Amino acid sequence: MSSIQATRMLTPGPTPIPDRVRLAMAAPLLHHRKDAFKTILAENQVMLKSLFCTESPVLPLACSGTGGMTAAAFNLFEPGEKVLVATAGHFGNRWVDIVTQRGLEPVVLRKEPGTSFDPEEIRAMLDHDPAIRGVFMQISETSTGVLHPVQKVAAVTRERNVLLVADGISAVSISPVRMDEWGIDCLITGSQKGLMLPPGLAFVALSPRAWKRASEVRPQCYYFDLTAERASCEKNQTHYTSPISLLVGLHEALTMLQEMGMDNVFKKQWALTQMARTGIAAMGMELFVKEEGRYTWGLTSVRMPDDLPAGPVVARAFKECGVILTAGQGNLKDKVLRLAHMGWIDWGDLAAGLHALAWSLPEKPSGDYLEKALDAYHKALGE
Ligand SMILES: *Cc1c(COP(=O)(O)O)cnc(C)c1O
Repeated sequence: MSSIQATRMLTPGPTPIPDRVRLAMAAPLLHHRKDAFKTILAENQVMLKSLFCTESPVLPLACSGTGGMTAAAFNLFEPGEKVLVATAGHFGNRWVDIVTQRGLEPVVLRKEPGTSFDPEEIRAMLDHDPAIRGVFMQISETSTGVLHPVQKVAAVTRERNVLLVADGISAVSISPVRMDEWGIDCLITGSQKGLMLPPGLAFVALSPRAWKRASEVRPQCYYFDLTAERASCEKNQTHYTSPISLLVGLHEALTMLQEMGMDNVFKKQWALTQMARTGIAAMGMELFVKEEGRYTWGLTSVRMPDDLPAGPVVARAFKECGVILTAGQGNLKDKVLRLAHMGWIDWGDLAAGLHALAWSLPEKPSGDYLEKALDAYHKALGE
């Protein structure tokens, strides 16, 4: 059955794909060991390093983001080692599961969903237990919309023998992340969020001291061997058969980001965040993350009233407006509604998202939420 309206994915992955990227991926397949493809991989490396703000190689892996997280845990630590996992939500809890499966001993710093960590608390925990060899965290916790203070945590880890592993899957290309300058030891992202690509690629970069550690560790994981991937990367190859079409799409997406300029992309993300927050507050809804400087730039989460679970609102927004919103994750399923605005999304898409949310509430808010939201957008862009 045809629909009279577009489907709009305002979701924290996957995100819409620009036509230029879709068409690039539709070109006839190149062979992954031939020169034309190697040139694409070489150019991807230059653009990826600039995106990660690093001198280190950025290894593309054929897997979803969680594969990149797995590769980090298996290549940087040996079973029995102690690590600190800082979690305040669903994806932080995933780190606990992954490091446990690797046989590491996690010391867990757990915070209420919607809140963040105090880097001084992490410093105190590291001082208290010098056996801790690594810190695992998210940069942006996508389940709640919190932006964690990774730069401040890096300032703590870089001055001691502790590796900082940062899941930047919903942060890289959405808000500034400067790997080398901040001192992140392992930075991970995925293809289907800010990078405007389908799911299927993860990216992992290691600092020089993390590479040294990786050379000492036996990954005990056949597919995710970062040392082998790095050797192939230096020859403009991937270790196993490349996800060719995705890497060609990546070339186009990175070219687009370069043309737009990352500063402009970040500014747009910031402005969309101000637009979403203003619109949601003007509707009379409660923002889940209140603290200034602690909300992520790629999605905005709403705390649902007790008598209004997220599910029916999300269902109605899709059925009646064609807009895909998302409920919370885990035990926040009913309590949180997420309106994502990352990647190839502009103010018009977000206006549609805000409308779909307002339309799907049992009591419709008055219309000026949209005007206020758009004012906030223009004001933020002009700052
Ligand atoms: C999306 C996401 C992941 C998981 O990525 P998959 O591609 O589903 O494996 C992990 N961490 C964060 C912060 C995410 O946003």
